[in-house]
Amino acid sequence: MARYTGPQCRLCRREGLKLYLKGDRCYTGKCAVDRRSYAPGQHGQGRKKISEYGIQLRAKQKARRIYGVLEKPFRNYFEKAERQPGITGENLLRLLERRLDNVVYRLGLGSSRVEARQLVRHGHFTVNGKKVNIPSYQVRVGDEIAVREKSKASPRIKELMERAADRTPPAWLEYDGQEAKGRVVALPSRDQIDVPVEEHLIVELYSR
Ligand code: SF4
Repeated sequence: MARYTGPQCRLCRREGLKLYLKGDRCYTGKCAVDRRSYAPGQHGQGRKKISEYGIQLRAKQKARRIYGVLEKPFRNYFEKAERQPGITGENLLRLLERRLDNVVYRLGLGSSRVEARQLVRHGHFTVNGKKVNIPSYQVRVGDEIAVREKSKASPRIKELMERAADRTPPAWLEYDGQEAKGRVVALPSRDQIDVPVEEHLIVELYSR
């Protein structure tokens, strides 16, 4: 499937904030947003005048980039969110949060969503005992996400497991560091989703 393969830091600079796309590097002085806090490109330091549409577009792009989702699937998430009862914007974020790559990241088993996605693709995780290598897989309440037995020998996975054992996942997830196993205990509520996105702007954009 097509995906963005350009510089990740450029995306953060375009949005004007850290999206934490590169894992450990994002917490060092090498972060491009810290070093060059203006938009990329020739006119990045020019005068900014942004329309209402522009504000809505940026909100949508920001959400897409945080979760690493392309336009078409993002639109599909939105249409699914619209069909669900409740607030569309919140439904949308909940669907994005329930992606398997995001859950792996939230459990601390990936230093970024980009890494988590790659590890899922490479088949390092199981859901309810079965190997799942689809990053967009939607987890449900009660699902158990675990590191595959075979993968526990990988040095990178070992390192991530050690780090995850010291972390506290969000309240809608549980993590057992001994077993390298997580569980979805509830669906995330809006206040448990700590992404800097004003989802109502995305709804406004798609309602134009
Ligand atoms: Fe974004 Fe991380 Fe790059 Fe900083 S280091 S610009 S947070 S991807």
